[in-house]
Amino acid sequence: MTTNLKGKTAVVTGSTSGIGLAYARAFASAGANVVINGFGAPADIEKERSAIETDYKVKAVYSPADMTKATEIADMIALGEKTFGSVDVLVNNAGIQFVSPIEEFPIEKWDAIIAINLSSAFHGIRAAVPGMKKRGWGRIINTASAHSLVASPFKSAYVSAKHGIAGLTKTVALEVATFKITCNCISPGYVWTPLVEHQIPETMKARNMTKEQVIKDVLLDAQPTKEFVTSEQVAQLALFLCGDDAAQITGANLSIDGGWTAE
Ligand code: NAD
Repeated sequence: MTTNLKGKTAVVTGSTSGIGLAYARAFASAGANVVINGFGAPADIEKERSAIETDYKVKAVYSPADMTKATEIADMIALGEKTFGSVDVLVNNAGIQFVSPIEEFPIEKWDAIIAINLSSAFHGIRAAVPGMKKRGWGRIINTASAHSLVASPFKSAYVSAKHGIAGLTKTVALEVATFKITCNCISPGYVWTPLVEHQIPETMKARNMTKEQVIKDVLLDAQPTKEFVTSEQVAQLALFLCGDDAAQITGANLSIDGGWTAE
């Protein structure tokens, strides 16, 4: 069955780029109005926002909320509720990465990764759940990672945040289960996005490798398919989770990682 989100609103954090942008487009393609969020050049963000409206005949608004700030995250949920009357789908997706041996890991990078990749999801869910409970329907999706299940060296903050979001997902799923609200996380393997591109020089330094070695022996070698996952594949899984057929899937951590975590 195709997911129909007509009349519903989806908020997607970190949707100015990569996987988040693919989620926003997928929800809009199913008829949802969307709240997009994230950083970038204002002209680029406006171009994407208006392209979503034109391509899918829905409404899209932009929230500049910084995922390190709890009050701005609450404002983002309030913007969706005020503009469209509800927030029915919340995707906690904003994320950053930093790669370094732990003894040199900058403390401010640890704090930022935990704030953006983990705490922002707590704040977003906390603000969105009352409305979902009142209306008796909701879908919460957290972008975790293969790193919510397995570790890699030099990614202490990222692996910790992603393991944390898997725990948050299960806890929230249990709390909201009787309100027809599901809460799941999706754990992609490597997707070629700015987040992955930016970690290549740091990985070259930490592992003493060339760029080609990092791509072949670290990124692609992690995945038995030896292929990158695409943002669109991840977004289609999220769209499925919003449909009626997925009503009994909750508290799950769904891998889409080319077999990485099967090993
Ligand atoms: P990306 O860099 O393309 O997108 C990240 C998004 O987060 C951007 O829109 C950015 O502006 C936004 N963002 C960053 N800091 C923010 C802040 N303080 N406030 C608001 N927005 C902020 O990266 P991506 O690969 O699309 O990552 C999206 C999610 O997918 C992340 O949670 C990431 O950990 C996860 N993920 C990515 C991969 C991968 O291989 N690319 C694999 C597994 C999981």
